[in-house]
Amino acid sequence: MKQADIYDNNDQLILENCTLCPRECRVNRFRGGTGYCGMDAGLNIASICIHRGEEPSISGPNGICNIFFAGCNLHCLYCQNHEISRPGSATRNHGMELHLVLDHIEEILSKGIKAVGFVSPSHVVPQVKTIIKGLNSRGQKPITVYNTNSYDKLETIRSLSGLIDVYLPDYKYVTPDIASEYSGASDYPEVAFKAIKEMYYQKGSTLTVDENGRAENGMLIRHLVLPCHVEESKNVLRSIAEELSPGVHLSLMSQYHPTSIVRNHPTLNRSLYKSEYETVVAVMEELGFRNGWIQDMDSFQNYRPDFSREHPFE
Ligand code: SF4
Repeated sequence: MKQADIYDNNDQLILENCTLCPRECRVNRFRGGTGYCGMDAGLNIASICIHRGEEPSISGPNGICNIFFAGCNLHCLYCQNHEISRPGSATRNHGMELHLVLDHIEEILSKGIKAVGFVSPSHVVPQVKTIIKGLNSRGQKPITVYNTNSYDKLETIRSLSGLIDVYLPDYKYVTPDIASEYSGASDYPEVAFKAIKEMYYQKGSTLTVDENGRAENGMLIRHLVLPCHVEESKNVLRSIAEELSPGVHLSLMSQYHPTSIVRNHPTLNRSLYKSEYETVVAVMEELGFRNGWIQDMDSFQNYRPDFSREHPFE
């Protein structure tokens, strides 16, 4: 089977002249990974593992089967997954064939795991669709979670309608200059908000959970509070409350921890102060958000993966 045969015709055309994400690199990904994300038309999986450290409704009681993709269409200076997100990242499962990926996921699902999460999938959406359809063809119908940085085109999110059960989008910034400096994408605020609005259109404010509190359908927006950027976080929350609804589910994250890459950065070189986080939590409450999660200040210790290991989080 040729590499292209695992994708439908429309996705083949996209990958041949890649306009999948807002970068629109127009490279032929069947001839190598020379676009901004650095990834070719393969499955580009860095790790498939059980992850217990997501929000309680996402991990569920036994964890979620997370598929971490290599590469990314944002190169955030402070990326916690920089081992796998940079172009050219050497990954354990790079080049793994579809049937082996499906075998691996099925093995994890057989342990009582109910959900499959696609992590940083914006540059590999055809691959995500192929994996979901492959699982369905084997009679597997896990809860599917699209765990995205939100630098997604509107039509991409539309194309996922009916395939994704739970959207888990970041909303990182509202200020173009900050988005440009930290993630190399001054249009992130506009692009991401359009994508999140489409997710909201598909799912609304309700996050449906099963008898164990596991999310089955809906949307949960994440925002990571960065050091020295309390005002930006307040504006992100205002934007969500005013332009969507304070009734959406929100995960306000304090887990920022500087990687070695930003050790000498003037603002990103430290963890978040408790006072900074508490200020943002207070604004969240003032704005009327009533559904979601806040984190303990030491939660960064639960999210320091080592992707050179088979089980990066254990
Ligand atoms: S998915 Fe990758 S190659 Fe395609 S447009 Fe985006 S960054 Fe460029």
